[in-house]
Amino acid sequence: MADLPVYTDADPSMAELLATHPHLTTDPMCGLMFEGVPLNAIADAVGTPCWVLGAGTLRQRLKRMQTAMVDAGLDVSIHYAVKANDHLSVLSLIGQEGYGVDIVSGGELARTQKAGIAANRVVFSGVGKSDAELEYAIGLGIGQINVESAEELGIISAIATRLGKQATITLRINPDVDAKTHAKITTGLAANKFGIPFDNAAALYARAFTLPGLKPVGFATHIGSQIVSTAPYHAAYARVAELVRTVRASGLSVEVVDCGGGLGICYRNEVEGQPEALAGTIRAELGELGVRLSIEPGRWPVGPAGVLLSSVVLRKQEGLPAPFVVLDAAMNDMVRPSMYDAWHGILPLAPQAFNQPVTPTHVVGPVCESGDTFARDRLLPPLERASRIAILDTGAYGAVMSSTYNSRPLATQVLVENGQWTVIRHRQTLEELWQDETIPAHPTGKA
Ligand SMILES: *Cc1c(COP(=O)(O)O)cnc(C)c1O
Repeated sequence: MADLPVYTDADPSMAELLATHPHLTTDPMCGLMFEGVPLNAIADAVGTPCWVLGAGTLRQRLKRMQTAMVDAGLDVSIHYAVKANDHLSVLSLIGQEGYGVDIVSGGELARTQKAGIAANRVVFSGVGKSDAELEYAIGLGIGQINVESAEELGIISAIATRLGKQATITLRINPDVDAKTHAKITTGLAANKFGIPFDNAAALYARAFTLPGLKPVGFATHIGSQIVSTAPYHAAYARVAELVRTVRASGLSVEVVDCGGGLGICYRNEVEGQPEALAGTIRAELGELGVRLSIEPGRWPVGPAGVLLSSVVLRKQEGLPAPFVVLDAAMNDMVRPSMYDAWHGILPLAPQAFNQPVTPTHVVGPVCESGDTFARDRLLPPLERASRIAILDTGAYGAVMSSTYNSRPLATQVLVENGQWTVIRHRQTLEELWQDETIPAHPTGKA
């Protein structure tokens, strides 16, 4: 069994989870509702496992971020981090609302183009952009490339020159700041692979102005994910501000600072990151510089906007101190618990379940790995065979990280909007699992 983190405080109760997730409500007849739609109705129609995403919640949360920045008197554009949830419906909504995007691959760039997002609203981050990806991005006239190394700066200059283009670039700075989050999602420490070492940045920025095909406009930073305090942001932005002043003093222009993403949400009982506090931090550290600012949130807007519906395949209890409830969803669908020891809320769908006594329950998937565990000793009402549950806060780093491990087809995805719901991805068929595979006519060694 994977060692989940040991929490010394009690898990939130079902009532407490409902209180921290206002888009989830209960109805005495229908049970658990999501943006006013009974989740049982969706599961009845399309089966489980099934991802449900709420357009209303996503819009509201993006709006709250934008309002926070405007209210702080800041000129901040929002670039949604595509990797959190790259579904075309999400990107289309982002484009319609007028936001930009932050991408980390050519595939993500292609999706943004498919979703109709103008190339000049796209920012390209990432530590290992291939030549083909850079050619594609520069050829399209992408808005900005965040350069992560001295080596990459030279490569971009060469490609842009060859294409007869000018690439607008910032340098992504590694501020050597501890974001105080899970080690696998910390990106701003000197030991991490991301960004340019702070002490090299000023000289490299000067060099960028001497290289052909480049238009250096400023700096970017991104220190990690699921950050719920402002202290690491203060520390990182103070260093970036220091850098801006240094290079300006040497006569170089700086027009842009990209503040990255990383704002955390309430999975368990964290006080979720507040966009208003982030805006205050940005204003305090960067507000006087007279630069165009941007943020790159992924998890914060879209994480709480999704749930994963699942049914109990069986309840394994005989001879055991606590039951194992085996779901039809597994680590191949949602890898966060096994990969990051992530804690996700679990709520039943049935109306009567909210009034029943709770007992410690292990919630697991059917995949042949002990790490395929969603929760240990979770206080839940009796979950019998065919009972349904919702796993909360799966809108970010959920479906997008799915695989077909154990030959388990990718699950259905549904979008809820204005009290209506639509299938936005059909359940993968068994044939689709192997449709891109071929068997050689003469297998090796048998020719
Ligand atoms: C992943 C990532 C983000 C988004 O992070 P969240 O924690 O989801 O907000 C933003 N910028 C860059 C460069 C990233 O790699």
